[in-house]
Amino acid sequence: MDSFTFTRSTTVDQAVQLAAKSLTAQQGAQVRFVAGGTTLVDLMKLNVERPREIVDINSLPLDRVEPSPAGGLILGALARNSDVAHNAAVIRDYPVLSQALLSGASPQLRNMATTAGNLLQRTRCVYFRDTAHACNKREPGTGCSAITGHNRMLAVLGTSKDCIATNPSDQNVALTALEATIQIQGPKNKRSIPIHDFYLVPGSTPHIENVLRPGEIITSVTLPPPVAGTNSTYLKLRDRAAYEFALASAAIVMKVSGGRIQHIRVALGGVGTKPWRSFEAEKVLEGHAPDRALFQRAAEAALKDARPQSENAFKVELSRRCIVRALTMSTKSA
Ligand code: SF4
Repeated sequence: MDSFTFTRSTTVDQAVQLAAKSLTAQQGAQVRFVAGGTTLVDLMKLNVERPREIVDINSLPLDRVEPSPAGGLILGALARNSDVAHNAAVIRDYPVLSQALLSGASPQLRNMATTAGNLLQRTRCVYFRDTAHACNKREPGTGCSAITGHNRMLAVLGTSKDCIATNPSDQNVALTALEATIQIQGPKNKRSIPIHDFYLVPGSTPHIENVLRPGEIITSVTLPPPVAGTNSTYLKLRDRAAYEFALASAAIVMKVSGGRIQHIRVALGGVGTKPWRSFEAEKVLEGHAPDRALFQRAAEAALKDARPQSENAFKVELSRRCIVRALTMSTKSA
């Protein structure tokens, strides 16, 4: 592990200014904020992340889960995954988020991992995590070892010839179905980004994963007011029942009224290079009576642009079945 400077900040302004100052002084040298450290520390030990400066933000007052003025919920950037998953308002109004969080990692990791850290979780592509192999995401322009190598766990939607890595998070899939908004503060201003616009597909620049600019910090995530009468479900399919990443997952937020689907949001995990909102599936479902044939058409639409690799063609059918089952579960709980 390379040496680095370590600073603690107690206010958001101080953290942002520290990062900005360091960026200027070191001409773009890597600055990283650390909270739970459940991704960053691992990657530093592997020499994948080599920051010159670390700013510890654990003392910032960003760990609360509280109602928003609009009637939704504000998740502080430093709210621990366990606290969010077990929050009474989350369980009551946004169960898909609680289910997604509890399906991820282990209790110990969920006690440390934070809302913002989970948003910025890096891919589990084995080549990204192993500096002996070429990886465009880790070192732009070096090539992608996964396309001709082991790619069973990797993406089938949103891929490019330069990267096929999946976003590994469960939380981010649920937040996508809930249409969360991410609040960001930088050295000069604050901004709000809908989660669907926060993540980028890899294209020719897989090292740029989101729209966060150097020196900016995520301060919170805002959930919109819950839609009355909706049911939500997170279904995760994986190789083992715990402590495993998704092969395919689906987050559904659905309202059935008068025998027809009046509100539907579908997001997929395990198959996309970013948390994958399926507008195609929603279009098939909206306004129609829920039944298995409709769900299957929605699942077909969701995966119609899938481009499987040598080892992960099974994910296309697995994801379809995951969508159908999650929609069925959402209907039954209605
Ligand atoms: Fe790197 Fe992406 Fe290729 Fe994996 S899929 S080796 S992360 S470029």
